[in-house]
Amino acid sequence: MKSFLPGLLALAMVACNPTPQEKQEKSMTTTEVAMETGSDPHSYAKAEAKVKHLNWKAEVNFENKEIQALAQWDIEAQAGAKYIFFDIYDLEIDSILVDGAKTDFALSTFDDHLGQGLRIPISDKAKKVSIYYSTGDDARALQWLDAEQTADKNHPFLFTQSQAILARSWVPTQDSPGIRFTYNAEVKVPSDMLALMSASNPMEKSDDGVYHFEMPQAIPSYLLALSVGNIEFEAISDRTGVYAEPSLLEASAYEFADLEKMVQAAEELYGPYAWGRYDLIVLPPSFPFGGMENPRLTFATPTILAGDRSLVSLVAHELAHSWSGNLVTNATWDDFWLNEGFTVYFEHRIMEAVYGREYSEMLASLTRAGLQEAAADMLKEVPNDTKLKLDLEGRNPDDGVTSIPYDKGYFFLRLMEETVGRERFDEFLKNYFQGHKFQVMTTEEFITYLKTNLLSEEEYAAVRVDEWIYETGIPDNLPAVESDRFTKVDEVLASFMNSGSADIKATQNWTTHEWLHFINSIPDSITAEQLAKLDEAYAFTASNNSEISAAWFQPTIAANYEAVYPKVESFLVSVGRRKFLTPTYKALLGAKQDQLARDIYKKARPNYHAVSRETMDDLLKWEE
Ligand SMILES: [Zn+2]
Repeated sequence: MKSFLPGLLALAMVACNPTPQEKQEKSMTTTEVAMETGSDPHSYAKAEAKVKHLNWKAEVNFENKEIQALAQWDIEAQAGAKYIFFDIYDLEIDSILVDGAKTDFALSTFDDHLGQGLRIPISDKAKKVSIYYSTGDDARALQWLDAEQTADKNHPFLFTQSQAILARSWVPTQDSPGIRFTYNAEVKVPSDMLALMSASNPMEKSDDGVYHFEMPQAIPSYLLALSVGNIEFEAISDRTGVYAEPSLLEASAYEFADLEKMVQAAEELYGPYAWGRYDLIVLPPSFPFGGMENPRLTFATPTILAGDRSLVSLVAHELAHSWSGNLVTNATWDDFWLNEGFTVYFEHRIMEAVYGREYSEMLASLTRAGLQEAAADMLKEVPNDTKLKLDLEGRNPDDGVTSIPYDKGYFFLRLMEETVGRERFDEFLKNYFQGHKFQVMTTEEFITYLKTNLLSEEEYAAVRVDEWIYETGIPDNLPAVESDRFTKVDEVLASFMNSGSADIKATQNWTTHEWLHFINSIPDSITAEQLAKLDEAYAFTASNNSEISAAWFQPTIAANYEAVYPKVESFLVSVGRRKFLTPTYKALLGAKQDQLARDIYKKARPNYHAVSRETMDDLLKWEE
C-alpha cells in the first residue's frame, strides 16, 4: 500500500523543478515532514487558513481507472497565516499554484488512516490555491466497476464513497466534517455516460460527455460525491426522482414511489427541506453501504429493491440526513452519534407518519433487538466503543460505524421524547435543526443546548444523560417497544418449535418485518432438519429479499444446514453491502467453516469496495 510513496515524492520534487541548491532543502521538506493534525484528529487542516469554495475540473478515465483534475480552492487565511494544510491520500500532485504563482509544497509522513498532510506556503492575503493532480491506484473512495459488475453489463461504472475520510483520495481537501465549502464542477466522462454529483444534476446525457455541477449550499468534504455510468432518470414528483441503470429504472421508480410523501412528512416534522431537489441513485450491488446521504442525491444499494417497497425505511433514513448530518453536522467523527442517532430517530418518525405507528414500532422492535445483541458482543471486545461519544483518535473513523451511534443514539432520543412528551420534543428538535443549519455540533455543545432548551434538572437526571453519552453499555432505562404483531409472530414460532409443523395460514399477510422477527427469534437449539421444514414451508432460501436472506443465513449456517450454502455463496459474491457481509462471514467462521469462508471471499473480494474489503480482510485475516 505504501509503494506509491517514493514515486509520489520523486514526482513532487520534479514538478517543483528545484535548482541544485534548493534541492537539499526540498528533500528536507518533502521527505517526512512532521505534521500535526488540527482540532479534528482525522484531518491535517488547521484554523489558520480554511477553504471556502471549490472549483473542480476533472476528466474521468475508465481505461486507466484514474481521475485527472484541477482543484481550485478559494481560501480564507487568518492574519499572520503562513501555510494552508490539506489532506490527501495516494494523490499524484503535478503542481500547485497560489494566486497563479507556482509554489513549493511539503508532505507529511504517510499514515495508514490519514494519508498525508499537504502543506502549502501562503501569505495571509492569499485567495486561491490551485492543485493539479491525478488519483492513484489506491484511491479508496473510488470504486471502478467493469461492465460485468453492473446490472446491465454493457458499460463500466464509477462511484465514490467519501465518508468518513476518503474524500481526500479523490480531491485534495480539508477533510474534516467541521469544515464546509460550496462547490462547482466541470466533469468530462466518456460521451455515452452520465455523470452525477452531490449537486445540481443533469437529467439526461450530454452529447460531448461534459457536465456542469453547482452546489451553492456549503457541505463538508465527506459529502462530496460522484457517480458515472450508463444511467437514466425517472421523475417521481416535481422535486424527486430516481436514477438507475436502464434495466433497474422501472423497478426503482416503483420501489420509491412514496419519495415525495416522505419528503413532505419530514418537512412537516422538522422544517423545510433545504437542498432543492431530492433524488436517489440506485448503484450496482457492490456499494458498501445501504445508502449514503450525499446531498440532493442519495446513493443507494440495489439490495433494497425488494419489489414490495418493504425496505424503503432506508430511504427515510437517508432523507432524514438532509436535516441531521447534512444540515447540522457532527464536528468530528467522535461525535458521529449526533449524525446517526438523530437520523435513526427521524427515520422512525418519517416511517410512522407515512406508514403508521404499528409499522414503525415493528421497525423499532427490530432495531432494539439488534442493538442489544450488538452491544453485548461489543462489551466483550471493544467496550469503549459502546459509548455514544467515541474516542477514535489514532484509529480508522470507520471503526465507529456500529449500532451504537445509530441505535443507542435513537433510543437515547426516544427516551427523551418519552420523558418530556412528543410535543415538547418535536418543538425542541425543530429549533435545533433550524437554529444550527449549515453549522457543526459537538457532543458537549449539544448537552449545553439540551440543558438550556429542553430538559429541567430533574428530567436531565431522570434520563441519565451523562450515563447514556459517556458510559459503556446500554442503560437499564432503555425504552421498551411493544408490537402486537410481533407477539403473534412469537406464537407461530413457538407452535412450530413444539409441534414441528409450520403454520402457513397464520403467516399469509406478514410483512418483511414480521418475517425478520420470526427468523431472528429462531432459537439456537434448532436442528438442520427443523430448518429444512421451515424452508419447505416458507421458502426462505429462495427469497429475493436481501434482509430476509441475510437473517436466514444466521441460524442455517450455525446449524450447518447445507442446502443454504450455494445461496450464501452467490449472495456474498454479488452483494458488497457491509451490513450483510460482516455477520455472514462471522457466522461462517463461528460454525468452523473457515475454509468455505475463505474460498468464497477469494471470489467475492474483487467485487467489494475498499470500505467492505478492509473490514473483511481484518475479519478473515486475509493477506493479499
Ligand atoms: Zn446514516
